[in-house]
Amino acid sequence: MTYKIKVNRVKIPLFPSQLIDKFNRKVTYLRISVTDRCDFRCIYCMGENMTFLPRAQLLTLEELEWVARAFVELGVTKIRITGGEPLLRKNVLQLFQALGKMEGLKELVMTTNGSQLEKMAKPLQEAGIKRINISLDSLKPDRFQKISRVGQLDKVLRGIEAAIQTGFKRVKLNSVIIKNRNHDEIIDLVKFAIARDIDISFIEEMPLGVLENRDRSEAFYSNQQIRQDLQQVFLLIPSTETTGGPSKYYQVAHTHTRVGFISPHSHNFCDTCNRVRLTPDGHLLLCLGQEHSVDLRRVIRAYPGEMDRLKQTIITAMEHKPKSHEFEITRPPQILRYMNVTGG
Ligand code: SAM
Ligand code: SF4
Repeated sequence: MTYKIKVNRVKIPLFPSQLIDKFNRKVTYLRISVTDRCDFRCIYCMGENMTFLPRAQLLTLEELEWVARAFVELGVTKIRITGGEPLLRKNVLQLFQALGKMEGLKELVMTTNGSQLEKMAKPLQEAGIKRINISLDSLKPDRFQKISRVGQLDKVLRGIEAAIQTGFKRVKLNSVIIKNRNHDEIIDLVKFAIARDIDISFIEEMPLGVLENRDRSEAFYSNQQIRQDLQQVFLLIPSTETTGGPSKYYQVAHTHTRVGFISPHSHNFCDTCNRVRLTPDGHLLLCLGQEHSVDLRRVIRAYPGEMDRLKQTIITAMEHKPKSHEFEITRPPQILRYMNVTGG
């Protein structure tokens, strides 16, 4: 006697375990801007009077987790939470806690202006954040306030100390250097980092969004100039360390401090680009320096719970990742989006 076993054929979509774009670059790193709002108004990042996205347009924390899960299942191993100021997003700790437990996600990191860190450093570390970047452009209170328009240096310094005391694996400062605003503080900023055994990166200003009352090209201070300034005082030893991103690192001899240079102008890093970005309203940006985006919010709201559809949209989006950005500091900005939306 023979038995006929009825098998229900379920269509199992096969997804790659790795996102690869058409230039054969592996995308393993997602940066999520969880809000475009901020308690500062840094002169290189935003206009003075900003209109922020209506809250209904923001992805909810659950939607953000859902998108993150799709990316991790597609081979993303590193996520950076940024903004705007990410720590201003209501209940954001819940998202950190969910991501901290997400299987397959090897690195959960964040960028913050430090204003909320005094109270948030410990819970963030407990949620699973290993490395934290804190922006610091000046050590002079009045100057700090001018650059951030409203920020208070002492609050940020307390946040930096709290992060150090909490014992993150790595604390790094980020400084945007602008000629005649803070270029004379480069050495003091590195000394500040050395005294605390932490790292520091210098970032060249990128032309994102139209700024009133400022000509970016006149204020441009290249990382090459910064390195020359530093080499008058410190011995910088080139490091082989790479994050797969735009940073080039140097060890400051006889210290625990590394100095990084993020140089979109003087050093084009697009060949090895491994990252994409999610805006607070759920648009996937394939390149920091291009306007093209894919609306993931539309997909997750039209087809709630359909993970496969979301993944397919992400895979298809990779075809649109351009070969390189086209930043040109002497031209008017081609990208009208500000950095707080982009997620720096
Ligand atoms: N609010 C947080 C902060 O300031 O660290 C996170 C978001 S902020 C947009 C992330 C990083 O982008 C900061 O280090 C900031 O200095 C940098 N940034 C903002 N606008 C920039 C621009 N136009 N060019 C280069 N870096 C910029
Ligand atoms: Fe806010 Fe960060 Fe932009 Fe400054 S750089 S305005 S702190 S988002």
